[in-house]
Amino acid sequence: MALLRCRLCKKAFISGLQEEVVCPDCDVRLRELFPSVRNFLRDNDGRVCTAQEVSNMTGIALEDVVVMVSMGLVGLSINSKAANNR
Ligand SMILES: [Zn+2]
Repeated sequence: MALLRCRLCKKAFISGLQEEVVCPDCDVRLRELFPSVRNFLRDNDGRVCTAQEVSNMTGIALEDVVVMVSMGLVGLSINSKAANNR
């Protein structure tokens, strides 16, 4: 167990897993947003795109998309490195 700070809303939360980067509230929110990203990627024919592109096309905040990638919700077809250059 560890006290972590949510990467999205900055709220402190108790984590049981070291890999967790967002609090339970944001986790739920991201999982609700995820189908939009999945649909976008499916319609994109697997073309590799950046998190920024996904954000622009789905209307989901860039931070949210990047965290989805780091959580493993979104596959490797998103190049999250591009988002780190801003
Ligand atoms: Zn949060």
